[in-house]
Amino acid sequence: MFAMPKNQCHIQDCTRSVATLCYCCQKNVCSKHFNEHIEVIKGQLHPLVEQRNELAEKVHNLKIEQLTDKAYEDLDQWRTGIYKMIDDIYSKKRKEIEQSVQINEALFVKHKNEQLEKIEKVKLDLEQLISQDDATADQIRELKSSLQIIEMNLAVFQRQFIVVQTRLWDVDLVQIQSGLNMNFVNSIGQRKQKQQAGGMSYAHQELEEDF
Ligand SMILES: [Zn+2]
Ligand SMILES: [Zn+2]
Repeated sequence: MFAMPKNQCHIQDCTRSVATLCYCCQKNVCSKHFNEHIEVIKGQLHPLVEQRNELAEKVHNLKIEQLTDKAYEDLDQWRTGIYKMIDDIYSKKRKEIEQSVQINEALFVKHKNEQLEKIEKVKLDLEQLISQDDATADQIRELKSSLQIIEMNLAVFQRQFIVVQTRLWDVDLVQIQSGLNMNFVNSIGQRKQKQQAGGMSYAHQELEEDF
């Protein structure tokens, strides 16, 4: 960039002499360009009016119901989603139960037959002792023990055949809070002001936000 005479307008291709320092662009400009700049600045007023009007209408039309409705909508949407998720999990787990039953069906039959055999043996032993009208304490103890073992096996088998473990979600899955109560919107602006006003310690800020 070649040096311009000090008293020449700084707008490109303008050879007029400087009239003033234009505040908007920080350049020495001639009166013509100064007036042009003033017009440009004034020209920004009308769009500002429109912008303000639009904003005013937005604020006027703001209703608490709109904000509340949105919250209910969000919650409903969450419910629909989680219902669907639960239905999906339910179907999937039903299939898993079916598969598990198929895999273990043979074991079930085997276990059942074994226990039936044992029970049949106890029956025969009992019938024999009754027909003989005689039994020792040891024989009674042995029969009792056999029955107990069968009973225990049955309980364990029933408990272990298919185990469904479920976990309940708690209400914390959904949290309702207002950013206003957390000084969400207000504190941002205030913090900026404070920082501009000249550094404030973090602890101090925290205290101040806690109103
Ligand atoms: Zn200017
Ligand atoms: Zn000029």
